[in-house]
Amino acid sequence: MPATPQRSGGAIGPPQRLQQGDEGSAVLDVQARLIALGYPIGGERGAFGPSTESAVKAFQVRRGLSPDGLVGDHTWRELVEAGRTLGSRTLYLRGPGRMMRGDDVRELQRRLNALGFDSGKEDGIFGFSTDGAVREFQRNTGLAADGYAGHDTFDALDRLRRRIGPGSKAELRERLARELAVGVGGRAVFLDPAHGGHDVGHLTDPGIPEAYLVYRVAESTSEALAGAGATPLLSRAVQQGPDEDRRCEIANARSADLAVSFHLACRADPGPTVAFWSVEGRQSATGRELAEAIAEALRPRLGPTQVLGRNLPFLRQTRMPAVVIDLAAAGNDELLGEDPYLEALGQAVATGIETYYG
Ligand SMILES: [Zn+2]
Repeated sequence: MPATPQRSGGAIGPPQRLQQGDEGSAVLDVQARLIALGYPIGGERGAFGPSTESAVKAFQVRRGLSPDGLVGDHTWRELVEAGRTLGSRTLYLRGPGRMMRGDDVRELQRRLNALGFDSGKEDGIFGFSTDGAVREFQRNTGLAADGYAGHDTFDALDRLRRRIGPGSKAELRERLARELAVGVGGRAVFLDPAHGGHDVGHLTDPGIPEAYLVYRVAESTSEALAGAGATPLLSRAVQQGPDEDRRCEIANARSADLAVSFHLACRADPGPTVAFWSVEGRQSATGRELAEAIAEALRPRLGPTQVLGRNLPFLRQTRMPAVVIDLAAAGNDELLGEDPYLEALGQAVATGIETYYG
């Protein structure tokens, strides 16, 4: 029986350069590795004949080696590395000159990079950046961050890859953050009551400024989220009115997980809306999910609430899933003067955020 490629050590190579005409166990080993990689060999087991040579050449072309049909050191090493499949051994950082190599390392790098953990160039060599990416991934998934990528780590990668699916890098990062979160607990949520300072915003019928009303709503959302174990961050104090760029900078600098901006009757069309970032067919999928969850929670209070894709500065300049809410509803002008109503709106927004985190 030829040894299986995974079992054979990478350090022991064929005794000499193998070429057409050679025979013996080293030839048998090379053939077994080629067959395992999907290169057919005719009835010449143990003997290096024409079909072994064309298999070697095809393999060399595929791996970017010069296709001379000979199995020297380099081709032998490539054969060993190509036979490594993810899961067949534990991968970790070894000292310089002894670093682990193989297609399993490359596959690990590919998967980490695809999830936004920077393991550097996908070169199939387990070096320092791969070690860093493995540890960061382990920390984020609640595994011991020891840098040893074994079954637990491979399983976690597999699970996340299936649940998260394909997407742009930024989207993957957002979905990953959400997937790794256990509910809203521990999440930093940036709450932005719009306007403030000299900018009072829209004046509702009883003559109360928008800047004040949205502050009260955001404050209520903040209290409800804090009660659920999240870390709410308000963009301003009740009297202040930083400009919008500054608010986005704060959200980004504080690495908020979500950003929510509150308006009231700012739009030309009447009716409550929750907007997520969208422009020319591109959109934030997670922003949309957040918008839908918040709109759903607001409907009992506000009636039909539209979810819209918009390219608003607050949505474009924040780096986390973000929404802009407009709380205007037909006939709620009177209610806006009442504290319990404002609190209920704020709590509904918090409920939507909790639903988003499942
Ligand atoms: Zn406004």
